[in-house]
Amino acid sequence: MNKELDKRLMAATIRYARRHIALTGTNPSVGTLIVRFINGCPTIVGHGVTARGGRPHAEPVALVQAGDLARGATAYVTLEPCAHHGATPPCAQTLIDAGIKRVMTGWVDPDSRVDGRGLAMLREAGIEVEAGILGKKARADLGGYLNRKQKNRPYVTVKLAVSVDGHIGQEGMGQIAITGPLARSQVHMMRATHDAILIGSGTATEDDPELTCRLPTALLTGLCWTVRPVWMFPANWRRTPEQYRPQLLLAPMRHWIRSLNSRM
Ligand SMILES: [Zn+2]
Repeated sequence: MNKELDKRLMAATIRYARRHIALTGTNPSVGTLIVRFINGCPTIVGHGVTARGGRPHAEPVALVQAGDLARGATAYVTLEPCAHHGATPPCAQTLIDAGIKRVMTGWVDPDSRVDGRGLAMLREAGIEVEAGILGKKARADLGGYLNRKQKNRPYVTVKLAVSVDGHIGQEGMGQIAITGPLARSQVHMMRATHDAILIGSGTATEDDPELTCRLPTALLTGLCWTVRPVWMFPANWRRTPEQYRPQLLLAPMRHWIRSLNSRM
């Protein structure tokens, strides 16, 4: 495999991993493709993404699909395969046992139980390993997981709708359209891929937004099932929270939301 092909296949793996962003609990949504040459063509013989809720991991799913074709193949994995025994054996060992010849990864897992150990296990087994293939792209999609592991705080995306001259509307004009259908679709996708949505009290009282993802494709793929707006209130909230029934705590954010609630 040449470097350019490795990058293209890693890009495909990163795109595939996006399917379960925000659906895997405290685990990251990792993607895996198993690729081998068949009749001179690189062919995907197995693909996996971390399952909803976080288990099973992507690698065993892809390996089961590949079966015997995994022997001698290359595995593209967006995050370093795990090295610790949990409910299942370490994914690094599963890749070794399946006879994988090369492992290309996007980013090293900062989890203290892994942190390079997965890559070391693979190398010790004689597997060709390369880390950091399209590293920045892989890292960008893992932002929520990496921020929590490395900084112990949530990964926050700020969304603003402003005109090119920095305004949000025109005085006395009521609601005016600043964005278009494309931007609205992108915002709905952002809602689908985040665990919680924080809005200001002014937006809550004036706009009363639903904050749900209503993209037709999200409805088809089931993404919308997991989108639950979380009403939270900033420290300067002046009204009684009961008016807006703050509720719906999602597991990955439970601690953070509880600490916010305790300040209300
Ligand atoms: Zn694993």
